[in-house]
Amino acid sequence: MTRFIVLLIAAYIIYYLFKNSLKSKTSRNVTQHHTDKKSDAVITHLKEIAYVFYSATKDGNTCDVCMELDGRHLLPNHKILQTMKPPHTGCKSPKGCRCTLVYVTRDEEGSREIESLLKKRGGMCDKQTIDRERIG
Ligand SMILES: [Zn+2]
Repeated sequence: MTRFIVLLIAAYIIYYLFKNSLKSKTSRNVTQHHTDKKSDAVITHLKEIAYVFYSATKDGNTCDVCMELDGRHLLPNHKILQTMKPPHTGCKSPKGCRCTLVYVTRDEEGSREIESLLKKRGGMCDKQTIDRERIG
């Protein structure tokens, strides 16, 4: 469990470092992505993100909705990502929604493997599918 939290924090740090470094050095590249005006920067930094996974804090207070979404892996440009962004309003946990989205960058070991798996599967997989495909 501790190991997982450390990984989670590491993923966030990497994500923020990427976000910041992209902001400073790729302002030139941003101009190439004017298809969607409101999210130029988002699209640019998403290029470095291999995939995103949903993480619920699993304990006795975790509601069914969060439990169901836990471990769901998605491509960063997946439409559903916008609607399932935590904290979600349907959360029934008395402690409130404590879910997070973990962004995994492409330099993370094995991330490209999962990314290509997600591409084959239409952009979204549950954790069981990911585990099964990686072993097999
Ligand atoms: Zn939640």
